This record gives sequence, structure tokens and C-alpha cells, in this order.
Amino acid sequence: MSENETAPEPVEEELPQHRIENAKSGRAKCRTCRRKIDKDVLRLGVLLVGPFGTGYLWHHLNCAAKSLFNDVEEAYSAVAWDDGVEVPELAKLKELSEKAEATKKEKKVPPYAERAPTGRAKCKHCEGAMEKDSWRVVLGRSVEFGQQTRTSPINVHPACVAAEMLAEDCATEHEGFVDALTTQSALADEELAEVLAAIGELEA
Ligand SMILES: [Zn+2]
Ligand SMILES: [Zn+2]
Repeated sequence: MSENETAPEPVEEELPQHRIENAKSGRAKCRTCRRKIDKDVLRLGVLLVGPFGTGYLWHHLNCAAKSLFNDVEEAYSAVAWDDGVEVPELAKLKELSEKAEATKKEKKVPPYAERAPTGRAKCKHCEGAMEKDSWRVVLGRSVEFGQQTRTSPINVHPACVAAEMLAEDCATEHEGFVDALTTQSALADEELAEVLAAIGELEA
């Protein structure tokens, strides 16, 4: 091969999609928890191919188990680490993943629909009673605490949703409402259809 005077062609190095390693330095930040990844701590890299270059986005391996378990599984099935790197058993990471899922389910985010667990709460829109086991929809309402505005969940009748969403302090967006309700409610298809029918048309 003769020497070429023009710039060399960039070498297209084939990087694997995942990499597990002990952090080489303490400089990278975990993309899940946003904290520093200390040197020598196990981390998972997920390859990002972007317009400005190709590289790994790093996560603590334990954080990845909680937020990106599919990637962890793929990394394990590809044995994406060098000889001598000691990785925990996949079952241990799966446990972390399941615990994180359970916590996420407890912290429900409006909007979602559920059956009223008691008959004691009133509809925050019309102040009317809500029967036990009847459908209620949980929306977000902006509440000011001193300088801060927070969103607190409020329960309303399905039939009061459209009117409540026109209120100025309603923190639930029209845009994507049905999708959000669908993914955030733990309901069967027929139940969801029932709730949506009771909500009716939303005014834009
Ligand atoms: Zn982390
Ligand atoms: Zn109502």
C-alpha cells in the first residue's frame, strides 16, 4: 500500500450495541440517576449512533437493571464484557428490575381511571357523591404552595372530565389524554371502553 496524502478514511469500527465494564475513570455520569459513576464500578454502555458521532451512554449496571432491563438482558446474552470482569447474576438484576416496576405502579400518575375504593370521596368538579365501585377519573390540578406550583391528583366523575379539563387550573393536557389514560390505568379493554364512553367527547 502506498501512502496517501489526503486525509485517511475514517475507520468504521464495529462497536457492539452493549458493553459492560468497570468504569475506567470517574468522569462519566449515569444516564439513569444522573450521578457520577465512580472508577471501577460496573457500568453498562448502550451504543448511541448519532449525527455527531458514535459512543456509549453509560449507566450504573444496577441503575440499568431498574430502567433498561431489556438492554441488560441483551448485554448478558451477548456476553458483552471482557474476560476477567465479574458481573452479578442476571437473576439478581432481574430482582432489582421487578422491585423498581412495583414502586412505579404504586406511584400512579394522572390521568388514570379506577373504581372508587369507598363512597366517601366527592367529585372535585361537581362536589357530587361518588359511589363505591363506580368509575372515577384522576386528573391533575395545579395548586400553588407559596412560590411553587405543584400538581395534585383530584378525583372526578367520568362525566365531569370534559368540563374539568376546561378549568384554568387543570394540569392534565387535552393532547394525548386518551393515550395517557389508556396506558396509565390498569384496566381491561372493556373496562377502559366503558370509562371512555362515560367521559364522552372532550372539547378542544
Ligand atoms: Zn446510576
Ligand atoms: Zn362530578
